[in-house]
Amino acid sequence: MPDMSSGAYLECINPKCSLRYDVRSANVECTRGHLLDVKYAERPSIKLKDLFYRRRNPMGSIFNESGVWRFRELLNFCGIDTEDIRECSDTLVSLDGAEGRQSKPYHMSKAAEFAGVNGDGFWLQPEGYNPSGSFKDNGMATAVTHAKMVGAERIVCASTGNTSASAGMFAANEGMLCDVYIPAGQIAPGKLSQAYQFGAQIIEVDGNFDDALRQSLVDAKTRGSYTVNSINPFRIEGQKTIPFRALEYMNWDVPDWIVYPGGALGNTSSCGKAVTELYEWGWIKKMPRIAVINSDGANTLSALYNGEFEETRLQWNRGLPDEELVMRYYKDMDAAGRRPSTKATAIQIGRPANILKGLRALEATDGVVTMVSDSEMLDGMSVVGLNGFDCEMASGATVAGIRKLVRQEVIKKDDVVVGILTGRQKDAMLPVEYHQNPDNCFAVPPRR
Ligand SMILES: *Cc1c(COP(=O)(O)O)cnc(C)c1O
Repeated sequence: MPDMSSGAYLECINPKCSLRYDVRSANVECTRGHLLDVKYAERPSIKLKDLFYRRRNPMGSIFNESGVWRFRELLNFCGIDTEDIRECSDTLVSLDGAEGRQSKPYHMSKAAEFAGVNGDGFWLQPEGYNPSGSFKDNGMATAVTHAKMVGAERIVCASTGNTSASAGMFAANEGMLCDVYIPAGQIAPGKLSQAYQFGAQIIEVDGNFDDALRQSLVDAKTRGSYTVNSINPFRIEGQKTIPFRALEYMNWDVPDWIVYPGGALGNTSSCGKAVTELYEWGWIKKMPRIAVINSDGANTLSALYNGEFEETRLQWNRGLPDEELVMRYYKDMDAAGRRPSTKATAIQIGRPANILKGLRALEATDGVVTMVSDSEMLDGMSVVGLNGFDCEMASGATVAGIRKLVRQEVIKKDDVVVGILTGRQKDAMLPVEYHQNPDNCFAVPPRR
């Protein structure tokens, strides 16, 4: 029986398995290879809403400044006394309070117009202003906290770029070693250079992200390193604060939609877990619907969820999804030599590691999945720029996806929509190239 004195434990997501583990376990998967959830024995009091609000005046505490740790009672897997600042400092890992600090939803009128929605109900939340430049810092703060809790000295990840930048930054701050597995030649230079600069050991893998992840998981076992990819359930806990911040900003009035680009589906999973918990705890009165936007060149979730691969639609099915269907899809993908392909490298993923948790999130929220082209993503990215915010191409999928769903009348013009802009521009030449071509929707070509 695991030690549950902290009130938190790990549980396998598969209801046929449901094995529980001590929260101090360093295994990111259950012994049968399933994903794990962090679970909390106690229900956090709704009175915390007031405390969270008061902490927006940080009163000298970096853990109140932090957009992640400000909500520490809702992710207290370390079992700390959350008001004891010394205990917080000894336990919680933070970039001096900067993770999540700058993030909140904004109205962006030009993006609203492009998407075809009423601007009053339209919000975009840039996560690119995190210290390493993407939402990954939200989950890295919690994953590295857990790494420290279990005494890990070396963290490891596979990355399409932003995970490595974030892991490298946190490792450098904590004096840990960091190994980064990347698909050789497929990382935006702006992301790769960050990992080098933070002193990470880069390991180039021939193949794509899916191959790099596989290799990193094998090596993590043999070298005893601590995996910080989003299959790590503690990553998911930190990323819950992305919807927390949006909801708090809206006085915990639930929007109709929360929209994310879909890669490995860590964000989708964490949003689903966040709103499910809040609903169960009585913090929110209804569930938002999640919309996941795939690239049409890396559309595993979309193809399976919408029944475009075989007739049957892949569903969470109350914990008993048709995993064979997923395996057939991957087999078919390999046999046909199909590789995920998009210029939005952050979501160029063929085997989303969190697909089952993603399906669970979609079932819990009556979610939808769609896909957009590279050119639509670039338009989405560019119109965000016209509002004075910058985001990367994968984040442009959020705006392009909302536009598409509005045109299909899935999202209604007057719905309240929060779209997450996952990262800032690190591919300097993309906007330059976009604006050279006068045929692009928002292009302003240079003049001589
Ligand atoms: C990692 C990443 C994604 C994909 O997020 P998942 O949680 O893996 O679905 C999307 N956009 C950006 C900018 C990213 O860095």
